[in-house]
Amino acid sequence: MDSVAGLFLRELMFQYRGLGPSDSVPEACYALAERLDLPVGVHVGLGPPGAAYLATPRYRASLSNPLLLEETLIRHPKLRLYVMHAGWPMLDEMLALLYGHPQVYVDLGVISWILPRKEFHRYLRRLVEAGFGLRVMFGSDQMLWPQGLRIAIQAVETADFLTPAQKRDIFYNNAARFLRIPRHTNPLAFTWLLCQRPNPRMQPTGRRGRGIPLGRHPPSPRCGT
Ligand SMILES: [Zn+2]
Repeated sequence: MDSVAGLFLRELMFQYRGLGPSDSVPEACYALAERLDLPVGVHVGLGPPGAAYLATPRYRASLSNPLLLEETLIRHPKLRLYVMHAGWPMLDEMLALLYGHPQVYVDLGVISWILPRKEFHRYLRRLVEAGFGLRVMFGSDQMLWPQGLRIAIQAVETADFLTPAQKRDIFYNNAARFLRIPRHTNPLAFTWLLCQRPNPRMQPTGRRGRGIPLGRHPPSPRCGT
């Protein structure tokens, strides 16, 4: 079947239900996504602190291991999958998955604004210096606070270990390649990377910027509208 243009599946949050990638429901979703050639974003990694004691009692941190996706990728070699939150904090496992499976991308949603800046930069730097800078996509996954979007953008802008070209790749080019966005498409179409439904339990803890110029990047979309 030809690609279903303009559609993708995200955020698949099986981890919050205590389901690993090989369980029947996730497996059915991945099989369908492969058959329809749909890009898929999978939640891997951090949830709200204490998630298993809040509204998602089946959440397990042990399902944060990106390598749990390996058998899925092998069963579905045409699956276009990206690991959300870049699998933080499982860096070594994330690097191993990226190395072993060149079709996999990651995004920086949530970790770009919720982590202390130094930790975010350390994580991003390792991803890039390990050779995967062309498979890292910007993301905010911002759910409630528009100011968090600025924090996320600033977190990448202030990464002094990145060249301007690497920042452009992260902000746009890598996602355009992954999603097969035509070259003439307006970057504002990428608002999908920047908005998600509200989650009042999560608060940004990263260093907050004030009056951060958005520069060449598109203006902030109004999330939830
Ligand atoms: Zn998530």
